[in-house]
Amino acid sequence: MCGIVGYVGAQDAAPILLEGLGRLEYRGYDSAGVAVVHRTGKGPATLKVRKASGRVADLAADLPARFKGAPGIGHTRWATHGEPSVANAHPHTDMSERIAVVHNGIIENADELRAKLTADGVEFTSQTDTETVAHLVAAAFANGAADLEQAVRTALKQVVGAYGIAVLDSEHPDRIVVARNGSPVLLGVGEREMFVASDVSALVGYTRQVVYLDDGELATITATGYRTFTLDDRSTAKQPSEVDWDVVGAEIGDHAHYLVKEIAEQPRSIERALRGRLDERFSTAHLGGLNLTIREAREFKRVKILGCGSACYAGELGAQLIEDLARVPATSESASEFRYRNPVVEPDTLYVAVSQSGETVDTLAAVQELQRKGGRVIGIINVVGSTIARQVDGGIYIHAGPEMSVAATKSFTSTLIAFALLALHLGRVRDLAPTEGRRIIDGLNQLPAQIEQILDEEKRTGLIAETAAEVAQRSSVLFIGRRRGWPVAKEGAQKFKEVSYVHAEAYASAELKHGPLALVSPELPTVACVPDDDLFEKNVSTLAEIRARKGPVVALAHRELSTDLADRTIVVPRNEPELDPILMSVPLQLLAYHAAVALDRDVDRPRNLAKSVTVE
Ligand code: GLU
Repeated sequence: MCGIVGYVGAQDAAPILLEGLGRLEYRGYDSAGVAVVHRTGKGPATLKVRKASGRVADLAADLPARFKGAPGIGHTRWATHGEPSVANAHPHTDMSERIAVVHNGIIENADELRAKLTADGVEFTSQTDTETVAHLVAAAFANGAADLEQAVRTALKQVVGAYGIAVLDSEHPDRIVVARNGSPVLLGVGEREMFVASDVSALVGYTRQVVYLDDGELATITATGYRTFTLDDRSTAKQPSEVDWDVVGAEIGDHAHYLVKEIAEQPRSIERALRGRLDERFSTAHLGGLNLTIREAREFKRVKILGCGSACYAGELGAQLIEDLARVPATSESASEFRYRNPVVEPDTLYVAVSQSGETVDTLAAVQELQRKGGRVIGIINVVGSTIARQVDGGIYIHAGPEMSVAATKSFTSTLIAFALLALHLGRVRDLAPTEGRRIIDGLNQLPAQIEQILDEEKRTGLIAETAAEVAQRSSVLFIGRRRGWPVAKEGAQKFKEVSYVHAEAYASAELKHGPLALVSPELPTVACVPDDDLFEKNVSTLAEIRARKGPVVALAHRELSTDLADRTIVVPRNEPELDPILMSVPLQLLAYHAAVALDRDVDRPRNLAKSVTVE
């Protein structure tokens, strides 16, 4: 998920690698490292590897002056397997330190490969999935691979998952072999030198000629050229294309803000959250890190979810998913409220702590209070190795990748995916029928393409941007929804107020007439979640009540509503009812974003807020 840079040519690689890694730094990462091929006199070439936890600047400061040689590869890591540490930082090497590998992505069958390699006598030095690749390449040589290309092909044929990788071999000191499957890799063509990178921005200033690899493609680069081929060693002739640096932009690609970049990343982040976890054969979910036996998963009587802000709203949707699919009573509560009220901790309740950063102090305190009283807690967390991740008894990493904007977007939807997987798993060990499990799996698999559709539609019509610009002119906005629509409305209001600074409040639709209807007037727009479900008619009645008081309405619906009911309808693709909230959340993220842009707010760093709330 983070950055790869590589260099082959007459210059020393390290300064070029550090500069490239620095350019990828905006993505956020937790550690960095470089490896170069080093030659002294006539002796054999050896690898030099240096890693540091923290920033690229820390790595640079740590690099000895004698760190000379080329080719070289470098990496900034954003941990998915194993906490951020020097040992887990890339590059990873085989036992003889002949092979070095950097990798972006997730190797799904890493546990299996690790067990096999360990049985063959391999000693691992890190907890990463990546290290398996270095040992597999070494094993391929031990089994007679003729060259680095063949060894890498043999290794990758055993790997299931997503990767962009670059491999260095001290016994093939003229080249780097790279491969791409689901995680970007591109080659940079220079004058008697070649580069590789996971993102073109790493190559600014070095070359304009680049070759983008496709999934399933590998390449060898040497100082004088490159060759691209497939896992079966069929050659794929690729011509370089010219980069337009103005399009690449400074740091965040062609997006104006991280917030909109992260909204746009959701099809990919959701794929990552699902990757390797759907069991189509038994219509269930595999969640290796839960540390719950099937018997335990069957035995507890309740689920209690704890989180703060968006994590709490995601928890409310999670609770509904668990009740719907597993028929286990489930509720979500603000972790900060929970911790301060001397909670009753029940032995037959499964507690779920939700935190993107894994550092939210109120959630951490709730976890500690629960554990002090013997509660069993699992986590749903983005940042691997974070404090809460280490504190809980098991959990699900959402693999959303680094989220830079303060407002949660992709971490919110990926948390919902984690809940859907948990609910599916709990359902299938209880009474959920296989056909029902299948229905949910099919729905989950459709989500990335449907989010793409929402994003494309907005690009084409600009409807949400236009609506946002109008709504942003009011001093207050009401967000409403029923059942699953209510947490969607809460998250919609939260997003809207935090980035636009316009007051926004969420209400359960049926509560309107118990109070807030008094506010409805032409001055107060309402954003309503109106899915085409069994409560559609009820939602229509609520809209009629608002319209009777001349309140402007923006509806999120599965089909265009009549203008009697809504001034504007944002049509959202239809999935399974349990999963529709995931799709309904996306237009609300865009609505908040465009409102903030229209009002010229500091979109990624809203005033008074911080990304991870580590103070009480
Ligand atoms: N899965 C690898 C790890 O945890 C790579 C993560 C990344 O893409 O930076 O080390």
